[in-house]
Amino acid sequence: MKCAPFEYVRPTSVDDVLAALAEADGEGKILAGGQSLVPVMALRMARPAVLVDVNKVEGLSDLECDDGSVHVGALVRHRTLAEQTAHPLLAEAARHIGHTAIRTRGTAGGSIAHADPAAELPVVAVATGATVTVAGADGDRWVAAEDLFAGPLMTTLDPDEMVTGIDFPVPTRWGFAEFARRHGDFALVTVVVAEVDGDLRIVVGGVGPVPIRARSTGAETLGDELTPTGDLHGSADFRRGLAIEMARRALASAGIQG
Ligand SMILES: Cc1cc2nc3c(=O)[nH]c(=O)nc-3n(C[C@H](O)[C@H](O)[C@H](O)COP(=O)(O)OP(=O)(O)OC[C@H]3O[C@@H](n4cnc5c(N)ncnc54)[C@H](O)[C@@H]3O)c2cc1C
Repeated sequence: MKCAPFEYVRPTSVDDVLAALAEADGEGKILAGGQSLVPVMALRMARPAVLVDVNKVEGLSDLECDDGSVHVGALVRHRTLAEQTAHPLLAEAARHIGHTAIRTRGTAGGSIAHADPAAELPVVAVATGATVTVAGADGDRWVAAEDLFAGPLMTTLDPDEMVTGIDFPVPTRWGFAEFARRHGDFALVTVVVAEVDGDLRIVVGGVGPVPIRARSTGAETLGDELTPTGDLHGSADFRRGLAIEMARRALASAGIQG
């Protein structure tokens, strides 16, 4: 199938992006790496009247280290995240995203805004207590990652807002484990363990509508907290079992007795 007709604009500043979204009056969509949006447009599951290409917007492709955090501009590509050394957990997570072509185009801002429950970066964002910078008509606002994700492919962003960057605290201890059927596939379950400022979090992706922060800090008790649903990739019990095993591995790689 081909995309439905749309108007295409390519602003070069955040202000112009916001103006284009406002003018589109809820019918506009930001185009970043296009790795999630273009396939759904081609299937006509999304039919934006205006496509606002943000790839030429200046100042959103930088990665900066600052006081225990790494600031990732919205247009930083997954490949850059995978290759940087300032935030080893982010690098490990980014290496697990799709294939080379997807990592070369896909962006951090796009992944966070797309809010796929099986995606790696939202899980890292919640586990590290990341803060998302959101630009809108009234200026910038800062949203804790766990308050951004509202459901599968749903966020608390307004249609005329834009993610401009994410601040990921660098954890003192961390572990990452995921299970995918084949290399490059979306994971069935991802577990990230991160300790930031003495606060240890275990966060699980793929077992609910958003990344789930566990109350427990042990792999065995984690299973009692999760209520995954079964689908064609596996039963609910299979996903729960995977989550326990991935948590065990993530805790072990963080050097924590699970
Ligand atoms: C074959 C394949 C395999 C993949 N495997 C994985 C995987 O294993 N793990 C994984 O995490 N992802 C995977 N992806 C998705 C990939 O990571 C995408 O890059 C990511 O989900 C979206 O980023 P993008 O820059 O391509 O966004 P786009 O596709 O351009 O946009 C996605 C959505 O986010 C919105 N958006 C984009 N940028 C912003 C912004 N700055 N502010 C507000 N809204 C914005 C768009 O309007 C759109 O609704 C895969 C994709 C493909 C095609």
